[in-house]
Order: sequence, then C-alpha cells, then structure tokens
Amino acid sequence: MAPVRVVLADDVPAVLHLLRYTLEASEAFQVVGEATNGAEAVRLAGDLRPDVVLLDLAMPVMDGLEAIPEIRRRAPATRIVVLSGFNADRMEESAIGCGADAYLEKRYRPDELVARLMSACRPGRTGDSPGAEFDDGLVHLRHLEGHQPLPSALRSPEQAAREARERFRLAFENAPIGMALLSPAGRFLQVNRALCTMTGRDEPLLLARAEADFTHPYDLEREARLMAELLAGEIDTSRSEVRYQRPDGDVVWALVSRSLLRDERGRPSQFVSQMVDITEQKRAEHAVRHFAAVLEHAIEGIARLDARRRYLDVNPAYASMAGYPAGELVGVDWADTLHPDDADRVDAAYDEMVGSGWAEVDSRALRKDGSVHFQRLVMVSTVDDDGRLTGHYCFSKDVTDEKRGEEARRRHADDLARSNAELVDFAYVAAHDLKSPLQVVSGFAHLLDQLYVPALDERGREFVRFILDGASRMDTLIEDLLSYCRVGSAEPVTVDVSLDAVLAGILVQMKADLEASGATVTADPLPGVRGDPVQLGQLLQNLVANGLKFVAEGSAARVHVTAERVPGAWAVTVSDNGIGVDPAHRERIFGMFERLHARERYQGTGIGLAICARIVERRGGSIWVEDNPSGGSRFRFTIPTETGPVTS
Ligand code: ADP
Repeated sequence: MAPVRVVLADDVPAVLHLLRYTLEASEAFQVVGEATNGAEAVRLAGDLRPDVVLLDLAMPVMDGLEAIPEIRRRAPATRIVVLSGFNADRMEESAIGCGADAYLEKRYRPDELVARLMSACRPGRTGDSPGAEFDDGLVHLRHLEGHQPLPSALRSPEQAAREARERFRLAFENAPIGMALLSPAGRFLQVNRALCTMTGRDEPLLLARAEADFTHPYDLEREARLMAELLAGEIDTSRSEVRYQRPDGDVVWALVSRSLLRDERGRPSQFVSQMVDITEQKRAEHAVRHFAAVLEHAIEGIARLDARRRYLDVNPAYASMAGYPAGELVGVDWADTLHPDDADRVDAAYDEMVGSGWAEVDSRALRKDGSVHFQRLVMVSTVDDDGRLTGHYCFSKDVTDEKRGEEARRRHADDLARSNAELVDFAYVAAHDLKSPLQVVSGFAHLLDQLYVPALDERGREFVRFILDGASRMDTLIEDLLSYCRVGSAEPVTVDVSLDAVLAGILVQMKADLEASGATVTADPLPGVRGDPVQLGQLLQNLVANGLKFVAEGSAARVHVTAERVPGAWAVTVSDNGIGVDPAHRERIFGMFERLHARERYQGTGIGLAICARIVERRGGSIWVEDNPSGGSRFRFTIPTETGPVTS
C-alpha cells in the first residue's frame, strides 16, 4: 500500500522533527512538506495536494483556524487534521466548525498518534472527537519500541467528552506552572494550584478578582494594551514579563503567555494564560547587571585573565591605569603590562596564589606608552569544577603617589637623621669643650669661697655663692648633654643583663639619700634581658630618681619596679606615689629640655627623660607614662626580646 502523503505544519522545529520521524518510522506515512505557519501550510497544501495536512493551531502569521478554510479551498481532496497541544472543548469545536476533518491532541505516544492519524485519514473520522474509532490492524509499527495495544472498545460521545474534560482539568490543575482562564474583561474564571502558590492567594480569593488587581502598577498599562491587541485580533499570542504583588508585600516575576479563545462565531470567549515564575532568574539577572555596573564604575582596576595569563576582560579603571584604550587589552599578554625588573616578585606572588587561592604584591607596571607606574595587586585564582586553574582575577590599585610619597619621606627621614647626628656630634664637642673653662670658673670660685670669704663683705659672699651655684648647674647640664650624646655615639653593646643586679647597683648609690629622706624603692623580681648594662642602668636610674624627686612636699616617696612579659618584649614599669603628669604633657616631657615645673621647686635640666627615650628607642622599644591607679604616675618602657637593628 502506498504511504499516506502528509504536509506538517507547526511553528516549533523540534515538533516538526519529531512528527516526521514518528510518521515515517511507521512506513504508513510519507512527509512531503513542512510548514512553520498557517500561510505556508496553505501554500504547500495548494502546491503538493497531499493526502493530509497535520496542522497545529497556534502558529504565527496565520494560525491554524484561519488556515483550515484556505486549505479546504485550495486542496479540496486533502484531509485536514488538527494536532493541537491544548484541548479545550471549544477549540475542537472551532476547528471542526472551520472545516477540519479531525482533531487530535499532541499528548499521544508516537504509536498511538500514528494509529489515530491513520484512523482520522479515513473518511468520516474526527480523531478524538465523538465517534472516533480505529483499526489496530491498519498500521504496522515496525520501528517503534514500547508499542501497547490501543483501546479497541468504543466510547460513547459523552464519555469521550467527559474524559477529554477530565484530562484537561488534571493537566490544568497539576501543571507545574501557573495557569488561568480569564474572561475577556480580565477576571479569573479558573486558576490552578501553581498560580495560587505563586501569587500567594487561595483560589476563592483569585476568582473574586481581576488579574489587574494585583499586577504591579508599572506593568498594568502594557498588559492592558496586549490584551486589547489580542481581543482586536491584532496578535495571536502575547508574551510579557509581569510583576505580581503578593499579599506579604513581595513581588514575583512571571513570564506570561496569553492567547485568546473565540467561540464558533469568532467572538472572544476566554484568555488562556500561562505564568512561569521567573523571580529567581530576574534576581540573578539583576545581580549580574548590578555586578557589571559595579565593575564598570569601580575606581579600582579589575581584570580577568586566562590560565595562560592573557587578559580576558578588564574594567575601564584597569584599562586607563594600564594606559590602554578600552577593549584593546583583551588578548594581551599580562607580562607585557608588567615591569620586567619586577617580573620575579610578581611570579613569586602568582605561584603563591596558585597554591593558596590569593596573593598580594606591590610592583611596577608598564603603560602602553612605556611609562612606569606603581600598582598594588591582589590576585585571586579561578578554578573549574575539578579544581584546575582556569585563570585569575587581578584587582589593581595605582599606588604611584603613595610610593613616591614614601620615597620622599624616607629621604626626608634620612636627611633628618643625618642632620640630627651632626647636631648631636656638635653638641658633644661643644659640651666637652665647655667642661674645661667651666672647671676653671668653678675651681677659682671654690678657692675664693675657701680662702677669701673672710675678706669679703656680705654682698661679695653672696656673689661667690651665685657663681658656685651657677657653675654647679652648668656642670650638671653639660654632664647630661654628654650622656645624651653618648647614647648614640658609642658602638652598641648587647650582652645579658640582669635588671635585678642593675637596680641593686643603683640602690647602693642612692642608699644615703634614701635613708635621709625616708623614701623607699621596692621591686618585684626582675628579668634578665639583652642590652647595654650602662644604658639600662642610666634608664632605670633616671626613672627611679624622678619618682623619688617629684613628690608632694612633706610626703615620703615610694617607688616600685616591676616587669612583665608582653608579646615580643619585656615591659618594665616604674611606679611612684608622686605628683603625677598632666595628660596634656605626657608626650612633651620626653623631649629635650622639657620641664613642667619651676627649678626652685624641683631641680633638673629637662634632659633625663630625653636620654631614657633615646636609649629605649635605639633598642626598638617604646616608652610612655600613664596614671598610677593608686596615685602618682607609672613610667613604662619595653625591651624587645628579639633585638632588632639598633638605630642611631
Ligand atoms: P628633669 O631634669 O626635670 O627631671 P626629666 O627629663 O627627667 O627632666 O623630666 C622632664 C619633666 O617631666 C620633669 O621636669 C617633670 O616635670 C616631669 N616628670 C618626670 N618624671 C616625673 C614623675 N615621676 N612624676 C611627675 N613628673 C615627672
């Protein structure tokens, strides 16, 4: 028997492909033409005069219902079988009303479809519609697997209609996407569970409302226009992204497809709407857009490179930093934008990133015009699902100004250190040279005092006392100045020093004074440290002496020395019960010649704490003063346990 010649019409290429395969595999059919819209189907039917046209209803340009009468006119002997994805009773009626011979649904297995189509090709058959029956023996399915015997019992028209309605109800109700039938005015006539879940409203609530009642105001106008165009027949289907407002205030995004069903007289009867929840997709799109905007507007340079270290993407900030026009860096070798002298350090950082996922490095970079700039690079590796390196991101910041500033500061600090050293040298020499004339002055003043005082009147004796007092103060000042200068001039000595022993030595020297004043100096056990014993002695002596000196008149001084471990250092504390230091002057007092009191009240040169600061800082420690919680002050200094480089 010659195969039945078929023209297929469906706007989805995959469906056409499936139908062709299904029909030709049965060897009962031969597909002679394929159309993707109603107009093409009409033309092919007229040209080829096939035995049957298998026609989808919802197609662009000209839909199936419009095409049926045209096909009928151009190819009167051709049977027209509608194959629709969606069966509402009225659609079947409309198709038959327009002149179709049969109406089939796409839901059948291939073997069933072949059999039903074969049956529908025989005069008087109308496929799924009342009266449909078919002869299993008619079609031999040679290439299709899973063939099941088809039901041979005849169904009554009512039963078939009931079954069709039930199938529709089940498909509608259980569809994973939102589905609704709406009146031409946009009121819900029927809604499924998925739509209720999506919109956050139960069925009775939806059926009492129009879709527009909870459509986002921004989308209302467009939706109204699309529905008007459908009603006017200007479009067959509409597709749009619609925001629905849920009662909890959230917004859900839906991809809505609508088409309009018409009654047998062509009047609009119902909108069929399908709503797919695309909220997640929208959020992801938004995040991607947001991220792209962030990249675009980021002040810092961001680049993506492949595993061969070639640029894949760069943001405008990166391109301008590298001195390339936007887009021109793509494909460029990373190495071409790095300074060759820094290649090793960048490579080392890259290797570190490959191992640990990220790395940071400061390096010089080359612009397209060959000029050099400094960049701080943070590299983050990218890997595939198997953990293989696919490339890396470069986050780059131009630190040229910072680096130049650092260099200038370093130069300035070097200059300052040099001139300070020169000044200290000068002070040392000056102080040293002042010593001998001072000795002459004070020596003769002493002689005057001892030998000639009886010959002087009261005023002369007072003058001699003034000379002796001034000479003694000047001697102390010169000694202090020399001590200060010596801290930086001699070669640094670093030996094991017991602070206990150092303090004991100091107390021996002070014994007489302590006994006379009733002052006490106590200490917890002190540690052994590495350093210069002379300088450490000087440091402790100055602090203890100050603690004894700066007490309120009439009260006995109490000084206590302790030490504790802090990370990387010993912290030594000298506490007293004295007059305390005003917080406003706590930094100042460590400078040269800084004194807070009149000499008549507390004697001194204002150099002692400057010497302490110099000793501590040259050893990499720090010194400061704080309140003693029990009254007085606490002078604290640190001695690093890992002795770093000694600075002058
Ligand atoms: P001075 O020769 O005056 O002791 P320092 O450099 O040792 O010079 O101290 C500077 C100033 O810091 C002192 O004049 C004093 O005002 C203040 N000072 C130092 N130690 C103490 C302390 N233990 N209690 C209160 N004030 C102090």
